[in-house]
Amino acid sequence: MGGGSGVASRRVRGEGNMDSDGLAAARQRLQADELQMQEEIALLDERAREAQTPDEVAFSSDAALADEAPLAVDREKESTWRRSLQHRLLDAQSALRKLDQGTYGRCDACGLEIAPRRLRAQPQASLCLNCQAKAERGRV
Ligand SMILES: [Zn+2]
Repeated sequence: MGGGSGVASRRVRGEGNMDSDGLAAARQRLQADELQMQEEIALLDERAREAQTPDEVAFSSDAALADEAPLAVDREKESTWRRSLQHRLLDAQSALRKLDQGTYGRCDACGLEIAPRRLRAQPQASLCLNCQAKAERGRV
């Protein structure tokens, strides 16, 4: 992995840094992401609340019990989905915080700069490719 493409941009502030256009684009995408995740989580919560109402209406009849099982599976799926949304929301928020603090683009694990190409593909990335690979192998 040699970054030998020799990209000569006037606006690059430091070696491997995102330029200000790149940072502005990242912020926009992160904010859009944050909003989307918040909306989807709110939607899930709303549906979860609605799903609870029939239980209260239909006492504990056998019919209600029969309906419980598939609902429980749905709920489990939804809570898994919700967790993954929550995770993405936190990733986006922590990346936005780093943008504000001027530490955006640094790997959380080793402190080296994350390749701008990677950040353009995944603006919420908090690890460089090396550390991400290690994390995926489960040895952070
Ligand atoms: Zn790293």
